[in-house]
Amino acid sequence: MTLPVPTVAIIGRPNVGKSTLFNRILGARTAIVNDVPGVTRDRNYADATYRGRRFRLVDTGGLDPSASEGMLALIRRQSQIAIAEADILILVMDGRAGLTPPDEEVVGLLRGLRKPVFFAINKLDTPKSDPLIADFYRLGQDRLYPLSAEHGLGVAELLDAIVPLLPESTDRDDDREVPRVAIIGRPNVGKSTLVNTLLGQERVLVSEVPGTTRDPIDSMVTYQNRRYLLTDTAGIRRRGRIDRGIEGYSVARSLRAIGRSDLAILLLDGVEGVTEQDTKIAGLVLRQGRACILLVNKWDLREGDARARGEYEADLRRRFPFLSWAPVLFASALKSDSLREIFPLIDRVTASFAARVPTGSLNKFLQALVQEHPLPVRKGKPSRTTKSVYMTQVATKPPVFALFVGQPENVTPEYLRFLENRLREEYHFLGSPIRILVRRK
Ligand code: GDP
Ligand code: GDP
Repeated sequence: MTLPVPTVAIIGRPNVGKSTLFNRILGARTAIVNDVPGVTRDRNYADATYRGRRFRLVDTGGLDPSASEGMLALIRRQSQIAIAEADILILVMDGRAGLTPPDEEVVGLLRGLRKPVFFAINKLDTPKSDPLIADFYRLGQDRLYPLSAEHGLGVAELLDAIVPLLPESTDRDDDREVPRVAIIGRPNVGKSTLVNTLLGQERVLVSEVPGTTRDPIDSMVTYQNRRYLLTDTAGIRRRGRIDRGIEGYSVARSLRAIGRSDLAILLLDGVEGVTEQDTKIAGLVLRQGRACILLVNKWDLREGDARARGEYEADLRRRFPFLSWAPVLFASALKSDSLREIFPLIDRVTASFAARVPTGSLNKFLQALVQEHPLPVRKGKPSRTTKSVYMTQVATKPPVFALFVGQPENVTPEYLRFLENRLREEYHFLGSPIRILVRRK
């Protein structure tokens, strides 16, 4: 018997960061794009997995501006619905704004409720903002969860507190360590064929008709005793052809599959070359902050064309400058021989994506770098004093670093790019985005 998946609802007044937290928990860095029809409609529900426990995450979302009732009444109505359908609640409040009457309105709804509620105080972006939490102790809660949903701080602690309340997966699959790989690309590029070849059996329906497979399909594959979860996201369509029906739905599913995954393998057609639609799909991967491998497929049809590889790769780099860190494979989904490199590469890339660099090592690296290339300054002499900078990793999947400096405004985009490239070289970050936040010391 399978237990029903519990529902975890995020409630709170508008603008406290509920959607940001929602996306954070799903592993997406930014909001699931809502300019694509069909995404807004159901973006507030998603299935999430944390430490092998599954739950359904609900974001109570934006208020309906057409309603004529007052703001407090609206907040009350939306929260009541969420409270009724949820098994577990996360109440989000804004640490910078302090406790406000609308917050107290929501807290009032929770009185006497027999469901677990976690009180999260958001927008505490630096350790310095911790005192802001004091205001909320008036609510009489033993435990408050300080968060920066935007920067991913405190989110793991919050989820770790929720985990014991979630039932263990009934299928004994502990998929915590299993890399999740989304196979994406425009229709007909060979996604289903690739999945079938990797699985070594006819698992996904393959057809000459574009878009035959519509929903993401998860398949577990074992390679050299390691397991991988492949999600075939057939169904990303050219934007102009999206209508509100099943196509829009599948875009939402595909975006979600990318967000849920550690890594996206973006397939490109070796014969047709890079198209505008490929660029758009690549943009989705970037926006969701996932790791990426570019796989140029159908290369069997270009074999014997000696210069083709170099030309294709140059074109790819020119069109996807924002994915310059993604490795490129040339292969044929029809030939398993040509895919030998794929699992070792997935291992390397997911390791980069999940990497955590110890602070000591990071600062040794940073100090040597600053000695050689001082931080830019506006006035006066460049400072080579290594005490003026400090760095620490604040998140993984993808790796996010906080660079603490005296004058953040002095850190130019060029310097940040330089620092990113050096970080990549030093720690062999391959196929994973990395982010550097500049903070005042
Ligand atoms: P919602 O209305 O509760 O869903 O709030 P949103 O998630 O849309 O966030 C409202 C605003 O707060 C947005 O401008 C977010 O960028 C910002 N925000 C969310 N989380 C944080 C955070 O951790 N720190 C800061 N500084 N801003 C945040
Ligand atoms: P999807 O829509 O991305 O899932 O694409 P399919 O896997 O359905 O493949 C579309 C068509 O391309 C099918 O006719 C496949 O047989 C063909 N195809 C896929 N991969 C390759 C390849 O590596 N080489 C060649 N020559 N054809 C391929």
